[in-house]
Amino acid sequence: MAAPRITSLLDSLESFYGTLEPHAPTDPYAFLIWWHCGYPASEERCDKGWASLRREVGIAPKQLGSASTAILTRALKAGGMVPKLRAARLKEIAARVQSEFGGDLQSALSRLPAAQLRKALKAFPGIGDPGADRIALFARLSPLAAVPSACPFVLVRVLDGPEGDKYPAIYAAAQRTLDTLPATFDARIRAYLLLSFHGRELCKRSRPFCERCPLQRQCALQFDPRTNKLSHENRNDAVDIVSERRDARLRRAAFLRAARRHVRRSDRHDEHARILETRASPQSVL
Ligand code: SF4
Repeated sequence: MAAPRITSLLDSLESFYGTLEPHAPTDPYAFLIWWHCGYPASEERCDKGWASLRREVGIAPKQLGSASTAILTRALKAGGMVPKLRAARLKEIAARVQSEFGGDLQSALSRLPAAQLRKALKAFPGIGDPGADRIALFARLSPLAAVPSACPFVLVRVLDGPEGDKYPAIYAAAQRTLDTLPATFDARIRAYLLLSFHGRELCKRSRPFCERCPLQRQCALQFDPRTNKLSHENRNDAVDIVSERRDARLRRAAFLRAARRHVRRSDRHDEHARILETRASPQSVL
């Protein structure tokens, strides 16, 4: 898929949502700490845990290293479940940043080539390929084609239609598409933010709000070029045809019922006339 088509999709999203800025910290160390401040991870929960941690303890490696697990656990409760486990992870991250990266993760990572950069990030707890790509991109360490891991299906739906149910295949397809964008931080950060926001606001996994979507007429899941219509218009047409057929059947059934009633009334009328005639006839008295 050529980059101009994706760029045009992103332009449409940007006209609709406006220019988006990163919500999470972009510094790699701060991101790792923020990410473990909430569970299940969401911006709201991570923000709450993050605010509480900064207020109660601080986030510098030395502050986290010297705080007791009990104090960290108490501070992280604001971010949701398993605070003790998250407290242990924060201590591990802080200790590694101190011992392996000299207390400054960003500048240590900036000296690594892309492959080693990914490897180093993936060694932190809870970070896989999507997380490593995202951190490297937003920290402006390497312009990798990072895919929003919560909604890789958005691009696949728009370009190819139904995404299927195989997450790794969907993720890989989205990444191949994003890789066709210019390898600049601005282009790829913009794509990540817009796709991620669209997946959260309208293009939801099980029930996308297509009726309100600015990409309706560009989306392969929604627009059928054979009929030049949106899929819900096709559905409505189908419903109209079914309704017309059903109405015709009902009309025919009503006509047949009326005809039968008429015949029965006619039969009764004939019988009644025959009886009257019989009663009126002198020969009927025997
Ligand atoms: S039209 Fe529907 S499926 Fe397509 S991008 Fe918009 S919300 Fe997603």
